[in-house]
Amino acid sequence: MSTFIYSPNHGRIVFGTGTLKELPAELEKLNASQPLVLSTPEQLSQAESVSALLHGKVAGIFSETRMHTPTDVTRKACDRATTSKADYVISIGGGSTIGLGKAISIRAGLPHIAVPTTYAGSEVTPILGETENGVKTTRSDPNILPSTVIYDVDLTLTLPVYLTATSGINAMAHAVEALYAQNTNPVISLMALEGIKALAESLPVLAKNPFSKSARHSAFYGAWLCGTCLGHVGMAIHHKLCHTLGGSFDLPHAQTHTIILPHALSYNAPNIPDVMAALAKALPGSEGDAVRGLNVLLDSIKVDRSLKSLGFKEEDIDRAAELALRKPYYNPRKIEQPRIRELVRRAWAGEDAR
Ligand code: NAD
Repeated sequence: MSTFIYSPNHGRIVFGTGTLKELPAELEKLNASQPLVLSTPEQLSQAESVSALLHGKVAGIFSETRMHTPTDVTRKACDRATTSKADYVISIGGGSTIGLGKAISIRAGLPHIAVPTTYAGSEVTPILGETENGVKTTRSDPNILPSTVIYDVDLTLTLPVYLTATSGINAMAHAVEALYAQNTNPVISLMALEGIKALAESLPVLAKNPFSKSARHSAFYGAWLCGTCLGHVGMAIHHKLCHTLGGSFDLPHAQTHTIILPHALSYNAPNIPDVMAALAKALPGSEGDAVRGLNVLLDSIKVDRSLKSLGFKEEDIDRAAELALRKPYYNPRKIEQPRIRELVRRAWAGEDAR
């Protein structure tokens, strides 16, 4: 075994079914009395449930969260936190709401409890992506990490089928790239493979029956493990492409990850034979070929396979490939412009990864 460094992130994880009821006790442990509760407009009723659980003892509800954490929304939410004398933030929602919680927390020095309701994984990473004047930038700081995360499987039962599928593959992408990260380690590899297996088994069940509690449990468990991988090691060409397509072309986060993943894996395959073999074992239907296993999974959960279907235009292929090569992340295979262009073109057209 080669030399490695493993530096676990701090943060308390409460995981299970019905665990939202632990929130008052968790707040008490943290000596918090006036939290500002964050949500999207669509999840206002879940924010109101949090407020009801705390008997209305909240500084307020801010339900104007938008995707990609625009800084104008953050400024408005920070003002709200100050005027309402909030001593804590609670984010209930997906990566967008948790991103806003992180942005307020790092600016105002307020501790943060995250209650995730998708599989994106932001709650267990010290990473914050923010958009200002249409440009998305990302930074990492241990103080960005939420102090407590409450995973309540019940809260994912309302996640629409399509978002369940794509958000699950978004989670899987973190674990796939963690397996070939430059700074990976044996603990992260264990978590990554366990997370991938849990999602590969549960997502096809949820595509048919989104109310299966056992499959929801397994998917959320997998998402936690995959998010933890993202929070500990560096990501490569897959994430670089998705950040470019999301940040510069405003494509939806989870759907973009879902379309790009088989192409990015196929690109790296020649340089990562051991990872491909381990992945093939974790993906049912692979018949020894991890890309095949991923294609079988994506077909079974009925997701869009082309960037074209998300509104990405053919004439933007060159620019996307060019932007993805700027400030490149580490990648196990040398990044070559014509090959990356061809990868983006295949993803745009919805052709099979090969
Ligand atoms: P999202 O948070 O934007 O949610 C998408 C939609 O689904 C929203 O309308 C939301 O209200 C709704 N929704 C969420 N959970 C629901 C539920 N259980 N029931 C019904 N509706 C629900 O989507 P996302 O994919 O979770 O997050 C994407 C954002 O998170 C992107 O901006 C991405 O960059 C960021 N992200 C950051 C990190 C990180 O480590 N910093 C990691 C992953 C994602």
